[in-house]
Amino acid sequence: MKYCLKTIGCTLLFFLTTVLLYAQNQVYSPQQTRTLIEVNTPAAQDSDHVLAITGCRLIDGLGGTPVEDAVVIIKGNRIVDAGPGNEINIPANAEYFDAEGKTVMPGLIDAHFHNLMNNDRINQYLRNGITTMRDPGQPIRFHQSLHFADQPVPRVFLTDSHLDGYPPVWTQQANVVRSAEHARESVYEYVRNGATGVKIYFNLPLEYFETVTDAASLSGVPVMAHLELVDADDAILAGVEGIEHVTSFGTALAETGEAKKFKDALREDYGARRTERFRLWSTIDLESERVKDVIQLAIENDAIMVPTLGVFERYEGDDGVENYHVQGYYNMVKFVGMAYTAGMKISVGSHAGLIHADYGWDFQHEMELLAKAGMDPMDIIVNSTLGNAKYLRTEERLGSIKSRMLADLIIVDGNPVEDIRVMRNVSKVMLNGIWVDSGE
Ligand SMILES: [Zn+2]
Repeated sequence: MKYCLKTIGCTLLFFLTTVLLYAQNQVYSPQQTRTLIEVNTPAAQDSDHVLAITGCRLIDGLGGTPVEDAVVIIKGNRIVDAGPGNEINIPANAEYFDAEGKTVMPGLIDAHFHNLMNNDRINQYLRNGITTMRDPGQPIRFHQSLHFADQPVPRVFLTDSHLDGYPPVWTQQANVVRSAEHARESVYEYVRNGATGVKIYFNLPLEYFETVTDAASLSGVPVMAHLELVDADDAILAGVEGIEHVTSFGTALAETGEAKKFKDALREDYGARRTERFRLWSTIDLESERVKDVIQLAIENDAIMVPTLGVFERYEGDDGVENYHVQGYYNMVKFVGMAYTAGMKISVGSHAGLIHADYGWDFQHEMELLAKAGMDPMDIIVNSTLGNAKYLRTEERLGSIKSRMLADLIIVDGNPVEDIRVMRNVSKVMLNGIWVDSGE
């Protein structure tokens, strides 16, 4: 009996310890994800400050029907409650913010944004609703200005220098991989230095991909790739999660001869990709089995496409645009729509600096292009918030409006589910529980 009790006691103790360690994220297998954090934690609201946002339409990022006449309670930098007004208790000490006729939703997360030591620029994007961004593929030193910001800026997630082959495409941004060992050690070093993802660039030979994805998986960070010379299906099979730019799918979708012609032209001159990708896409037969197979493979492997359609947007009458540009872009849009309908994960990333977008509004512009590709506005919103929080491995803190989440949210005038263009009417932005100065 005594022995039996001891055994039960020990088992219980072991069980509790395991649960506690898991809860604290101290134990995780490579398959498990851990919460990753930004390199620049923003200032937080005082922990005893209570705010009630009342009378709003609530889009919580989880994808359900918007809640009308909702209330959101924020204490310090955390959301403590959110839901229908008649079900939420407003604490006696709460300060009120009346948001009647407006929509409250999670702050937008841009999964693909490049910046070069320009705090003013990303402050503008924050004021336009982007509370979190990831720069895939630029060195951490390109973001040193973050530590000197005297104005609020979004939470920034970094990957450090992208991994490329020799000769590299961008000499200032590349880490040129010379062996599998070097690739592996680079990933570990990046993560030690604060990287929360790893980016593969298009001249990295396929033979190194699995080394990179294995090392990243062991470190709990995702791998994303910009492809031109390696096919997307091969990259996905090697464990790449994020296929950045719709164009990265081009060589996998095109007829073999056309893909070869494209790769030959690029090996001759990397710059040729800027025109040749449109020529390649103009030849793609979207009804082919090949296209269906690639979409299916991406879905089965949980791959994410970040189309960045705005980078490739070309219309008749644009400067220097020829027929094949227009047809190529048309096919890219159509492919995104097909992939979405089939069930592929689509992420929203702006890249920033788009030809057809107004300064500071690239992300909203991309949301509008995805709507034109056939995506439902609610899905675009979810993928811009919780979806991207998952892609950034930070959904336990960011991306939705519910109890315990960090108070990063925006208020827009109107209902974006009825018209995605409403996303430009950002009237208030909150970062870590603090209203961001609109600068007006
Ligand atoms: Zn990019």
